[in-house]
Amino acid sequence: MTTTKTSDVAATVAQINDLAAIGCDIIRVAVPDMASANSIEKIKEKITIPLVADIHFDHKLALRAIEAGADKIRINPGNIDPNASTGSSEKIKAIAAACNSKKIPIRIGVNSGSLEKNILAKHGGVTAEAMVESTINHIAILNKYDFDNIWLSAKTSNVRLTVDTYRLLHEKTNYPLHIGITEAGTEYNGIIKSSIGIGALLLDGIGDTIRVSLTAEPSKEIEAAKAILKALKLRPGIDIISCPTCGRCNINLMKITREVEERLLLLPQTNLTIAVMGCPVNGPGEAKQADFGISGGNGEGIIFAKGKIIKKAPMENLVDELINQIKRTTK
Ligand code: SF4
Repeated sequence: MTTTKTSDVAATVAQINDLAAIGCDIIRVAVPDMASANSIEKIKEKITIPLVADIHFDHKLALRAIEAGADKIRINPGNIDPNASTGSSEKIKAIAAACNSKKIPIRIGVNSGSLEKNILAKHGGVTAEAMVESTINHIAILNKYDFDNIWLSAKTSNVRLTVDTYRLLHEKTNYPLHIGITEAGTEYNGIIKSSIGIGALLLDGIGDTIRVSLTAEPSKEIEAAKAILKALKLRPGIDIISCPTCGRCNINLMKITREVEERLLLLPQTNLTIAVMGCPVNGPGEAKQADFGISGGNGEGIIFAKGKIIKKAPMENLVDELINQIKRTTK
């Protein structure tokens, strides 16, 4: 999600294109006012990835965002019109008709802070069952107006609760699911929480789009999301394995691994496993599943492939030699 003011077209376009360049596939922008909704038209002209408009409360913002070219809108029908579940709602009817005519989906985005009082009372607070009941109520509102092009999200900041909620949603509904841990926190803790939550769900086969939500630069969210998908082999990428080092290590492995990681990011992201190991005696054997690897010793290192030594090189050239070897393989 962008962090710029959506009404600031230049800043928003620049941020979206920077994020797309590092692997963001879909972008969501906040639409808190009409200036933001209007700016979607100009933003869309200058970006290449789909744009989701995030709207709370005001149906006019939703209508304008749809007209301006949003590829999906995220709303909670119940907070656009609190009477929508009990009576008829012209506001929801208008949004559903506009989305149907543009053939764009609506993502119902329930979160733990948006649960209705009666549902909270019935379930004794925020539970997976409460989250799912609220989501199903929102679905019913859209279905009432012949709208079924629906995506769902039901995030909380509690990892276990979020995973339980999505598992239940997956069991009870057939709509695509946007998954993530909301308000996951700062970079370090947020990535851990997101990796556990998103990872657990993806391993269950649950989740169609993901978002890592961090109190950090948006680029960190994309890097973390890509790393999660790469770790699960759901997105191609060069996987680095490196040893934790021990008393046999005589080189600065942390520095070497960081350099390898940075340089590999610049190569085409194919499915390769690259090992960076701390000693030449045990390294190749411990990393024999790696396609290529290096181990360093006193002044000299080795390059190996599938556990077999293919070359020796002075330590100062070892990373260059590894990168050249990988380039020859990936070109
Ligand atoms: Fe220790 Fe060598 Fe194994 Fe690294 S590869 S953990 S340095 S024995």
